[in-house]
Amino acid sequence: MYKYETHMHTSEASGCGSSTGAEMARKYKDEGYDGIFVTDHFFNGNSAVPRDLPWKKRIELYCKGYENAKETGDKIGLDVFFGVEYTYHGADFLIYGLDKQWLIENGNILDIERDISDFLNYVRSCGGFVVHAHPFRDYDYIKHFTLCPHNVDAVEIINASHHQKEFDERAKIYAEWYNLPFTAGSDSHNATDRYYGGGILTETPIKSFEDYRDAVLGGKIQLLKGNVL
Ligand SMILES: [Zn+2]
Ligand SMILES: [Zn+2]
Repeated sequence: MYKYETHMHTSEASGCGSSTGAEMARKYKDEGYDGIFVTDHFFNGNSAVPRDLPWKKRIELYCKGYENAKETGDKIGLDVFFGVEYTYHGADFLIYGLDKQWLIENGNILDIERDISDFLNYVRSCGGFVVHAHPFRDYDYIKHFTLCPHNVDAVEIINASHHQKEFDERAKIYAEWYNLPFTAGSDSHNATDRYYGGGILTETPIKSFEDYRDAVLGGKIQLLKGNVL
């Protein structure tokens, strides 16, 4: 089997991340992963990128964590893919299949945030694949739940950073209710105490975002529970 991380952060782009993309790549390699999707917080989440810069410059800084992870991954034999974690009032959506150029050309995507379902539909019309991350995480910073069952492609039903198993149990019930495919990720933010485990297993290697998308939609992944619970 092949092991992949679908949800993780770097200190270059995520305000809450404390290890660089290169450090994260090495850690995942050490843990036996075959690849990782770097999904840093976008500007509407806990971003490390200064707000008062031109859009293109902000996107360049945003992509640094991924690019540094990829550069190291290429050297050590770890496949590194690009993703985005886009936030809407405490709800987090993992978006795969976009790239730096798309972000540069779409300088209005924070305005579209006024209506999250419009934004998700737009992203999907551009080829993006949307996973609702930890839809029932219930921490103080989340004032209410936002569910978009008709505008996402899959649901993260295991988030290995949670200590509360009911968050994941509710996510699974939600996904089953709407017949949405499952995914799993760790949401790790640093390489020094990355004890979460988590992610997915596949029988064939993932060599592109499309491989990941097709594996999720085809039910061809095994979900890793992680080490916390
Ligand atoms: Zn974070
Ligand atoms: Zn995250």
